[in-house]
Amino acid sequence: MRHIAIVGSGPAGYYTAEAAVKKWGDDVRVDVFDRLPVPYGLIRTGVAPDHQSIKGVSRRYEKVALSDNVRFVGNVAVGSDVTVDELKDLYDAVIFATGAPNDRELGLPGDELGNVFGSAAFVGWYNGHPQFAKLDPDLSGKHAVVIGMGNVALDVARILSKERCEFDGSDIVHHALEALCASKIHTVTILGRRGPHQIMMTPKELGELMHLNKASPRVESADLPPLDDDAILEPGLRKSVTLLRDFAAIPESIHGEKPITIEFDFFASPAALHGRDGKVVEIEVERTRVEAGRAIGMGETYRMPADLVVSCIGYRSSPIEGVPFDERAGRFANDEGRILPGLYCVGWAKRGPSGTIGTNRPDGYSVVDLVDEDLVGGAPKRGRAGFDELAAARGIDVVTFRDWQKIEEAEEAAARAGAPREKFTDVASMIAARRT
Ligand code: NAP
Repeated sequence: MRHIAIVGSGPAGYYTAEAAVKKWGDDVRVDVFDRLPVPYGLIRTGVAPDHQSIKGVSRRYEKVALSDNVRFVGNVAVGSDVTVDELKDLYDAVIFATGAPNDRELGLPGDELGNVFGSAAFVGWYNGHPQFAKLDPDLSGKHAVVIGMGNVALDVARILSKERCEFDGSDIVHHALEALCASKIHTVTILGRRGPHQIMMTPKELGELMHLNKASPRVESADLPPLDDDAILEPGLRKSVTLLRDFAAIPESIHGEKPITIEFDFFASPAALHGRDGKVVEIEVERTRVEAGRAIGMGETYRMPADLVVSCIGYRSSPIEGVPFDERAGRFANDEGRILPGLYCVGWAKRGPSGTIGTNRPDGYSVVDLVDEDLVGGAPKRGRAGFDELAAARGIDVVTFRDWQKIEEAEEAAARAGAPREKFTDVASMIAARRT
């Protein structure tokens, strides 16, 4: 019998559990740990609430979670409730699928000002992550600045630009829906330090900006390279750049019809944030040019109003005591998923924050192949029986998958009309719901 501990119950965690069951069938027991009492990680608190079709993948993870050899071990923080060394003693392999839950820092003068947030915090706020549910961003100003030109920047810009009925069918949490519906923001500027050919936005997500009820995207034609230059781009990026060209062709009259404009500001590198009474009011930006793919500052700066700033510039994993960490890259130090004997990583904890949800599937299958190669005899491990003893002795309040199903039922019962669920946004309420 093989005993596998997976730390993290998001996509990387459950694809790895699925791969383990496929590989070893009845000869494996998999425990999937999560520090929260609820599973699915990024699917629950990262994927945009108005992208329910992407969240549908959780049904696949549920099937894995309900298989006989897999169990969910929620409300257990590895590194504090139980140490990595303890898990190593109990399981043949410990696989970190902990994602990249922390914001990469902007590192600019003024980034400590009020109403300046990283996307992990801001997205966590509108998705009801217990750590960020109380963020309470001030949306009473007119100008929001979103830093970065990836899909997270698009999510944030779109969420800031929707009206109430456009959230029908979404699971945006009540506090965020009400705050967004009362928002006074009328300009959302997306700042990119490089140009249109260097955006990280994918066409489906970018195209959504064309169909917003009260917002229209604006691109300056002068920022676009000659049309012929698009020929060298890979097809996905070419489609995205074609969309930018469509945005540039939107007539002024259409912008006039919609109260919110989503401005794309290219060749614009944030240089400093300026505040009043402790709160951000302006962003200082340096003009750039792109040379050999790199943004080069040109020394010319300008300021623009910024009542809210959300930086969407990537994420870092959380280090865990006893596990080597690559500080510069912001993820576990690993060789294709191997960290140390018995310790592995997968997904964003392995390769950093890139790719789609589906990218984690091959990752999960390949880490299981590594574990299979490395497992050669050795003393039998106690696995989940040993963990249960330790948890009982320590008084750890483990949340099971059955408990989660009760929490889920309560969230579904509390949903507003047409919504799939109203999430609990604090751990105590989650725990209380599983007892009902
Ligand atoms: P990303 O795609 O890596 O984009 C990060 C952006 O931040 C880039 O435009 C980057 O510019 C910019 N940036 C980085 N450091 C900066 C700095 N110091 N100053 C200014 N700009 C800076 O990351 P992401 O948007 O966080 O997305 C993470 C992953 O999740 C991606 O793979 C994304 O596709 C995926 N995702 C997918 C969806 C979806 O499919 N619907 C939704 C959300 C996220 P440079 O290019 O110049 O470095």
